[in-house]
Amino acid sequence: MAFVKRVCVYCGSSGRVDEKYRAAATRLGMTLGEAGIEVIYGGGRVGLMGLVADAALAAGGRVIGIIPIHLHDREVGHHGLTELHIVDNMHERKRRMFELADAIAVLPGGLGTLDETIEMITWRQLGLHDKPIVIIDIAGYWTPLFELVEHAVVSGFAGRGALQLYRVVPRVEDLLPALAAAPEPALAPEPKLV
Ligand code: AMP
Repeated sequence: MAFVKRVCVYCGSSGRVDEKYRAAATRLGMTLGEAGIEVIYGGGRVGLMGLVADAALAAGGRVIGIIPIHLHDREVGHHGLTELHIVDNMHERKRRMFELADAIAVLPGGLGTLDETIEMITWRQLGLHDKPIVIIDIAGYWTPLFELVEHAVVSGFAGRGALQLYRVVPRVEDLLPALAAAPEPALAPEPKLV
């Protein structure tokens, strides 16, 4: 896992969710912080996002947040971070988060998390990157997504290879072993993304 020094975390901005999701966010932040792996995330203080950041910082880790100016108030930009980058728009945020990360980890979340996750998977499908994507499927939260992908495959809209674009693990503790088992990305950062 020597190549994974920074992990981009996608997760929900809502905190009004079951405690098992909140606990997973805290555990993920702690796990990354203790492992000395930098967290790249959306920069907010709210929801699971804030829990990941706070736990990573409390564990002595480094956390870089990337937040667009228009969301700075709504998602309550976290000013206790190692670095908070305020950018002009969502596209810039997504691009910077992607560029800084060596790998992507996904926790439960809402439509924003879904969008970010699907984008990383489809960019990988297009051969724009080969960074590992690990979905941490707490309590089977993402099962409907996997069913939809399978539906696309059996309906002929996606090849079987789509199922190899991401790894699914059930618990936060499985993330680091999954990253350790992932092949090191061979593709150079892709200028076509910009
Ligand atoms: P959510 O999963 O909806 O709680 O959102 C999680 C994060 O994704 C928040 O920081 C949102 O600002 C962000 N987000 C929302 N919509 C999008 C989008 N279209 N693209 C990328 N990120 C988004």
